[in-house]
Amino acid sequence: MLKATDIRKSFGELKVLKGVGLEVNRGETLAVIGPSGSGKSTLLRCINYLERVDGGTIEIEGEGLVTAGRYAAEPEIKRMRRKLGMVFQSFNLFPHMSVIQNIIEAPVHVLGEDKAKAEKRGVGLLDKVGLAHKKDNYPFELSGGEKQRAAIARALAMNPDILCFDEPTSALDPELTGEVLKVMQDLAKEHITMVVVTHEMGFARQVASRVVFMDQGAVVEEGDPTEFFAAPKTKRAQDFLGKML
Ligand code: ADP
Ligand code: MG
Repeated sequence: MLKATDIRKSFGELKVLKGVGLEVNRGETLAVIGPSGSGKSTLLRCINYLERVDGGTIEIEGEGLVTAGRYAAEPEIKRMRRKLGMVFQSFNLFPHMSVIQNIIEAPVHVLGEDKAKAEKRGVGLLDKVGLAHKKDNYPFELSGGEKQRAAIARALAMNPDILCFDEPTSALDPELTGEVLKVMQDLAKEHITMVVVTHEMGFARQVASRVVFMDQGAVVEEGDPTEFFAAPKTKRAQDFLGKML
């Protein structure tokens, strides 16, 4: 579904991604873990075209978003970007819109979906994340966990082929992380293709089909979660897990 090769990215003098490779297969949940500052968000932002890479190749379903540092033309980029959905740590709901308005905004205005149809589908998605009863509420009336579940429904409303999460539970009170992780676990069971940057080691171990460990701008280790968590091979992964668990 997605293949990134030799991704390089600097901010000024700071080399943040030093030749990162990442592959995401259809239907899998890939967990990306690693210390703060290791470049996880930047990698996800490059994949979603929220940042431009300095070098490397990103293929989305076999099509080149960027090839050896050269980007495709704008219309192709736009089309490829629609295949990706993004859920952020900070929810990013539109504050002046109700939950259902948040959800139908892009389907109606970007995809040109019929409003009544988009609403019907939107309510179905809200039902899936356990929020149908809050469809007419505004974001300020929701708990953090509800906001994040609404944000997940909003991302799903665009029918993305790959759903990317950047620490979706890091801004939540501990008692609210479970309800969001549960929704993500349901999506994983449905084999929605997901890339999840997370500090939730339990989720990475139990739900992810594969885990990638990043440190200092590089992928240091990757593999089966059960094996990785039971016996990380590299010293850096061992040290990281030692601090996390
Ligand atoms: P992670 O998500 O793994 O914590 P990030 O990708 O957010 O790591 O950040 C990696 C490094 O890049 C950090 O040192 C961070 O300060 C730096 N960085 C991230 N975004 C920017 C930016 N827009 N400008 C300058 N430095 C940045
Ligand atoms: Mg981050």
